[in-house]
Amino acid sequence: MPDVLVAGGGPTGLLTAFELERAGLEVLVLERDARPTTQSKALGLQPRSVEVLADRGLLAAIEPHVQARLPAGHFSGIPIDYTDLPTRFPYQLGVEQAYVAAAIEARLRTPVLRDAAVTAVAQDDEGVTVTAGGHDHRAGWLVAADGGRSTVRTLLGAAFPGTSARISLVVADLTLARKPAGLADDWQLPSSRSGFLLPLSGGRYRVVVVGAEQQRLDRDAPVTAAELQRALTAAHGPEIEVGEVRWASRFGDAARQLEHYRHGRVLFAGDAAHIHLPVGGQGLNLGLQDAVNLGWKLAAQVRGHAPDGLLDSYHDERHPVAARVLLSTRAQAALGLPDPDATAVREIVTGLLATPDARRDVALELSGIGISYPDTTGRATDVPVAPDGRAVLVGASPPTGWADRVETRAGTDPQLVRPDGYLAWAGGAGLDTALRRWFA
Ligand SMILES: Cc1cc2nc3c(=O)[nH]c(=O)nc-3n(C[C@H](O)[C@H](O)[C@H](O)COP(=O)(O)OP(=O)(O)OC[C@H]3O[C@@H](n4cnc5c(N)ncnc54)[C@H](O)[C@@H]3O)c2cc1C
Repeated sequence: MPDVLVAGGGPTGLLTAFELERAGLEVLVLERDARPTTQSKALGLQPRSVEVLADRGLLAAIEPHVQARLPAGHFSGIPIDYTDLPTRFPYQLGVEQAYVAAAIEARLRTPVLRDAAVTAVAQDDEGVTVTAGGHDHRAGWLVAADGGRSTVRTLLGAAFPGTSARISLVVADLTLARKPAGLADDWQLPSSRSGFLLPLSGGRYRVVVVGAEQQRLDRDAPVTAAELQRALTAAHGPEIEVGEVRWASRFGDAARQLEHYRHGRVLFAGDAAHIHLPVGGQGLNLGLQDAVNLGWKLAAQVRGHAPDGLLDSYHDERHPVAARVLLSTRAQAALGLPDPDATAVREIVTGLLATPDARRDVALELSGIGISYPDTTGRATDVPVAPDGRAVLVGASPPTGWADRVETRAGTDPQLVRPDGYLAWAGGAGLDTALRRWFA
């Protein structure tokens, strides 16, 4: 019997499984789809996610698929310079989400059971029974990473308050039968409020459209080549011609977040815990950070050495981060509305974001580099995580009895680094307290 079941083999579920497995747990991922998806919702990794993947040795397999290093993020299309961020990676990596997921899955020992949609969940004092693909699976814990329409969330009746969609957008990956002269063939930050067109690999283009027609159409109406052609003609002139539409979908700006990330023995992560308009490139990155925050805490809980409250600190630390992203993306959605008042506010905000302090605050937030948690002193910038999921103590010796939880390394800059890369102690008094606070 595995220690933990993970519902959903998207990037969040896979990285959670990776973290749990790294800490020595037996894990089983239950995935609805029969085959790994080749469709990529997200096209970018923020700097903090790049750090996390690099520290785990996962970046090398992603690198060959990177199409751009963008030295900026954007706030509703307003460029936000990243070049002075305190990180080894002061840029967004332009890479399709499918390659990120594939790179994590390739490194997993954990089996990913496909064609295994979760349809029932029951929990008791000892564990969780999950029905997936018609079979029952039993484990001590369940991580629900089954995406924005989470079945687990519905089955548990978990409160998911927030706002419903007000605007409707279309995303499509297509080829072009005819390209207008001057169409940029490199990655650029989206700057238009009515959508964008971006070259992907293999001759495909990513199109995002948010026009008047999309607002009139039903959310369930199929996206047609004709609809995409009209939008592209309006944006790029009559020379552009849609070739083959490979994938198309409608999405909106609903913004919702679970009230509680933990429901007994079930923990929610990624889009299953929070949804919002994918503006500013935040969702995938939130999910990856959820995974690394949850992984070591759940592993400590399973192995019986979690201090009181450690597992609940997953909600306490991660809920406010996603709440802030929801606030930010709602503001960005409002700034993008095609109405004169929104245009006026946008002009003011654009001016404010040109000031160094405001720009830097927003850059720290969008990039994830500024994430900090109470009782930590930020993130460690140059201490690779321990391969076996232990904490890392640099430049100091722990009292005896911690070797199973703490790897000791030589160094002149004393620090105690949690397995998710955040600093539990940074020299001076208090090492003992920090060890007990996080790893008792
Ligand atoms: C158009 C669009 C563009 C985006 N662009 C960006 C971007 O540029 N940057 C960014 O950071 N984010 C972006 N996002 C958001 C990002 O794609 C998501 O936040 C990310 O996919 C979340 O990963 P996840 O693993 O939590 O969920 P998902 O990727 O949705 O994965 C969930 C997995 O669970 C599986 N599943 C579903 N139901 C079940 C079930 N009942 N049982 C078992 N398995 C199940 C699914 O098949 C899937 O594999 C974008 C989103 C959209 C829609």
